[in-house]
Amino acid sequence: MAGGNGGKGKGKKSHSPTKRQRKTQKLSVTYEASDHEKGEGAKPPEAPGWEPRDWQQQLVNIRTMRSGKDAPVDQLGAEHCYDPSAPPKVRRYQVLLSLMLSSQTKDQVTAGAMQRLRARGLTVDSILQTDDSTLGTLIYPVGFWRSKVKYIKQTSAILQQRYGGDIPASVAELVALPGVGPKMAHLAMAVAWGTVSGIAVDTHVHRIANRLGWTKTATKSPEKTRAALEAWLPRELWSEINGLLVGFGQQTCLPVHPQCQACLNRSLCPAARSLCGP
Ligand code: SF4
Repeated sequence: MAGGNGGKGKGKKSHSPTKRQRKTQKLSVTYEASDHEKGEGAKPPEAPGWEPRDWQQQLVNIRTMRSGKDAPVDQLGAEHCYDPSAPPKVRRYQVLLSLMLSSQTKDQVTAGAMQRLRARGLTVDSILQTDDSTLGTLIYPVGFWRSKVKYIKQTSAILQQRYGGDIPASVAELVALPGVGPKMAHLAMAVAWGTVSGIAVDTHVHRIANRLGWTKTATKSPEKTRAALEAWLPRELWSEINGLLVGFGQQTCLPVHPQCQACLNRSLCPAARSLCGP
């Protein structure tokens, strides 16, 4: 997920919660029951398998580098784009919409589009009553905005017809919606429903996992990286990984010219030498 300052304008301010409200609105994270927890017929736990060398120290180092919480994703990610004072169903819809807008788009641009949409009252009904041209103007310049107008309209109509204006509460139903991919679905489950369903892998997580050697073999797509990470990363860390690595990718482990000289993982990173020299 991505970052800008579009969400820090006047409109955002008018919706800003007090500190106390922020605290009370924080979504608690629960975990889906594992096979083991579901009881009869459950498989025995598997023996510990492969895990990357040094991953625990690498993770500690990334947490240290991210301790300032000052990356774009920390202020403008999907969990910051919805109106915390809106009814739960509306909040969940806004979370999904911000995720749909965020693909191939910087967080700053997504936040700006969400601010403009929220200023008009962002609900399933209001979107369905907005003509395509106006919706396009409101979300421009998010990436692929023309396609997103179409997907947002189609998804909103489905949500109204099949889900009473709410969003579905499973990854399978979420990815069946037009314009919703696996990363968005897992983030929607975490942010909107407070359920950890899987690791949300975007281009940042995909790139960094491969650079650090967190996949047993190199992976070619975010979905393959998600499966590779879920094979060894303890489940209690799944919800943390997306925000942690996205911000790390925005500030330090950049797609081009990563800041290896300033990275605490330099001596532990298999990619450092080839990317930044000895
Ligand atoms: S050493 Fe460089 S490539 Fe490795 S994690 Fe740090 S910034 Fe990324």
